Amino acid sequence: MSGLTVISGPTAVGKGTVVRYLLEHFDDIHLSVSATTRDPRPGEIDGVDYFFLNREEFELLIETGQMLEYATVHGINFYGTPRQPVETAIAAGKHVILEIDIQGARQVKASRPETKTIFIAPPTWDDLVARLKGRGTESEAEQATRLATARVELEAQKEFDFVVINDEVARCAHEVLELMKA
Ligand code: 5GP
Repeated sequence: MSGLTVISGPTAVGKGTVVRYLLEHFDDIHLSVSATTRDPRPGEIDGVDYFFLNREEFELLIETGQMLEYATVHGINFYGTPRQPVETAIAAGKHVILEIDIQGARQVKASRPETKTIFIAPPTWDDLVARLKGRGTESEAEQATRLATARVELEAQKEFDFVVINDEVARCAHEVLELMKA
C-alpha cells in the first residue's frame, strides 16, 4: 500500500487523533514529522512531534530544496515537510501520511498529482468551536485567530479529493484507510 496521502482539516477537528488511530491499528503507515518555527507545547518532543527549528534553520532548508512543501500557518510560524524522510519511506514500500494545512496540500498535489488529498471536516461549526475551547491549549486571542483560519479552511474543502466527517474517531479512521487503499 505504498503511496502518499495528505490529511488536512481545520484546527481542533481531531486530525491528530484520527492519524494516531491509523498508526496504532495498521502497519506500513508512516507519519511524516514536520518542521516548525513555533515553540514546543508542554510535552512535545523534538524529532517526534515536530522538528523545532529557528527561522534561520528553516529558511536554510527551503533555500537548499529540502522542503517538499512549506507554509506560514495562522500568520505567524513556518511549518513544512522535510523531503528526504518522505522519499525514503515511500521507497521502502510504506504509505506516507502528511498532516498539513491546505496551503501545503495544494503544493503537494501540484508537484505530485497522484497524491490523495483528504479533508477531515467537523460534523458542525458549533462542534468545532466547542472542541477548540474544550481542549484549552490556546489563549482566547489564539483561539480567535484559529477560528478565523478554520472558516477559510472549511471553504477550501471542495478542492480536496475526499471529505471525511470526524463524527467518531474509529469510524473516520476506517473511512480514511479505505480511501488510502483504494
Ligand atoms: P499546530 O501548531 O497546532 O501543531 O499546527 C497548526 C497547523 O499547522 C495545523 O493546521 C497543521 O495541519 C499545520 N501543519 C503542521 N505541519 C505542517 C507542515 O509540515 N506543513 C504545512 N503546510 N502545514 C503543517
